[in-house]
Amino acid sequence: MTAKIIDGKEIAQSVRNELRLEVDQLKQDGITPGLAVILVGDNQASKTYVANKQKACEEIGMYSVLIDYPETLSQEVLVAKIKELNEDEAIHGILVQLPLPAHIDETAIIEAISPEKDVDGFHPINIGRMMTGQDAFLPCTPYGVMVMLEHINCEIEGKHVVVVGRSNIVGKPAGQLFLNKNATVTYCHSRTKDLKAITNQADILVVAVGKRDMITSSHVKEGAIVIDVGMNRNEQGKLCGDVSFDEVKEKASYITPVPKGVGPMTITMLLKNTVKSAKKAALTGVK
Ligand code: NDP
Repeated sequence: MTAKIIDGKEIAQSVRNELRLEVDQLKQDGITPGLAVILVGDNQASKTYVANKQKACEEIGMYSVLIDYPETLSQEVLVAKIKELNEDEAIHGILVQLPLPAHIDETAIIEAISPEKDVDGFHPINIGRMMTGQDAFLPCTPYGVMVMLEHINCEIEGKHVVVVGRSNIVGKPAGQLFLNKNATVTYCHSRTKDLKAITNQADILVVAVGKRDMITSSHVKEGAIVIDVGMNRNEQGKLCGDVSFDEVKEKASYITPVPKGVGPMTITMLLKNTVKSAKKAALTGVK
């Protein structure tokens, strides 16, 4: 079997096209969805991520503002800025680019963001809402994975989903979203014994580890759907995932490539969450 490729770039584009129409409608109603992005320090990768997020906002007609602070910023000033943005009616989403400098407590910063503007879906209130199946801002990467699967009309109920990786931003919430859709979920992590025995049971295998080629065809059941969240660089500096794409695609039924897989979905879901927040503001009459 040769897998069908799930084209994240194309799916992301179609979601963004829908969002653009929603933004146009909101603007006609007097609301421009607004995202505030806070960047602290000089981390080059963070700067690139932030620039990409802002560009994506502009492309669909959203307002975005970058608040750029030096590495030496105090936690108090950052919290005060977040509180100001929490009250700012032009801002519907607040994103603090992680990682933060070591002297700033990330947990305290995430918790300072109003859950109603936490478009990254990292606030414990949103995580709790997600876990209990309530309406919530879902964390962008796992949310993007679910939208990709929806796009290929994948039936999730009753499937055995194996998630490799249990970080708070990807692995854990990914498993929870599948559980909410009535899948049977198994988590694997660095202390898992006999990884292969477990991944081979997966109807849907989600890999979010950050190690190139850690999933080979011997880890994958014939006909499985394989979602590769990993983002690594090979010796030539080329972007690649956690899955040995060329061999696994001969065994899987569907597979996401890297690049042009999960990556483009992540920013798209950030836009979607911000538009959702603006729509809620529209309903409550806040502009
Ligand atoms: P973390 O480093 O926070 O988590 C990695 C997870 O992998 C941990 O749970 C760890 O286990 C587990 N792990 C490590 N080694 C093994 C192993 N040998 N076998 C099984 N599990 C193992 O990473 P993130 O979740 O933040 O990111 C994962 C990958 O996804 C990275 O490559 C990152 O760049 C990428 N990413 C991609 C995004 C996208 O938009 N495409 C967005 C976010 C991340 P333990 O908990 O026991 O330590």
